[in-house]
Amino acid sequence: MNISGKTKLLGLIGNPVEHSFSPFIHNMFAQELGIDSVYTTFKVENGELGNAIKGAKALNIQGMNVTVPYKMDVLAYMDEVDSLAEHIGAMNTIVRRDNKFIGYNTDALGLKGSLEHEGVNLKGESVLIIGAGGAARAVAVMCADAGAKLIAITNRTMEKAEALASYIDERYEVETVALDLELVRAGEGSLMESLKIAFQTTSVGMSPNIDADPLEDSHYYDYVKVAVDLIYNPTTTKFMEKASAKGAKAISGLGMLYFQAVKAYELWNDVVIPETVLNKCYKAFFEKMAR
Ligand code: NAP
Repeated sequence: MNISGKTKLLGLIGNPVEHSFSPFIHNMFAQELGIDSVYTTFKVENGELGNAIKGAKALNIQGMNVTVPYKMDVLAYMDEVDSLAEHIGAMNTIVRRDNKFIGYNTDALGLKGSLEHEGVNLKGESVLIIGAGGAARAVAVMCADAGAKLIAITNRTMEKAEALASYIDERYEVETVALDLELVRAGEGSLMESLKIAFQTTSVGMSPNIDADPLEDSHYYDYVKVAVDLIYNPTTTKFMEKASAKGAKAISGLGMLYFQAVKAYELWNDVVIPETVLNKCYKAFFEKMAR
């Protein structure tokens, strides 16, 4: 890495940011693509978000990622917001264009990229979303956008599942239904059998509670064909283990994490990362995470 006065500065704002893998990914892209950019993290204390954005703009920072807890609040500081981010109500990427800060949601684009990489197409599919928090909303919007036929949502707090189902219903043609978590845990009925793709979007099963899974001993594991967990630590969750033991294809949140970075780096630099570089960096990232 050869930093000079011309080096493009990119970074991550959030709190905490110390354990982020984004510097590893973005600096690897810079090196592999021969782009003169450097990516680092900026811890932003509670109440300082507005100052941080203003400062980033004044300092001519070319692109930023935004993480917990600012993915929603940061929308208010953008000059423009991409329609996908607007529908999701959250964003994770700032792109500087003509001196304007434009907000994008590359989490949703990243999940889409990860599914494409795995050969999974959502068009005409009936899907189950477990969880109804911020990540679930991004998944639901992405599924609706990608032409899913039916989106079923289940959550510990049923009201939130219902609210998310209505939110999607009001904006998209797709059929939506909120399901009681106990019913899903029982896993019986023809509707459950038809939900071939499942997205696990809760924090249940995340390290250190790696033996937990939100569906417990559900019969649903007999029906699911593609089980996507948004959790990336551990790289293989109990949810993924149970689904693959029954023959499903299990996909880790690591892919989503990687491809959200791909989409952000492409936006910041107005490039399309070639497949050879994409695959080489994907392998390096997965190897690093497996260590
Ligand atoms: P969030 O808004 O706080 O939502 C958390 C969800 O988990 C809610 O549905 C919550 O249910 C449920 N939940 C939490 N504890 C539970 C428990 N003990 N039993 C059952 N349900 C429980 O969080 P988020 O931003 O959506 O993030 C959720 C997960 O997605 C995290 O693990 C995060 O790391 C992951 N994620 C991954 C990526 C990626 O790039 N791979 C990107 C974004 C997020 P209630 O509504 O009942 O509280």
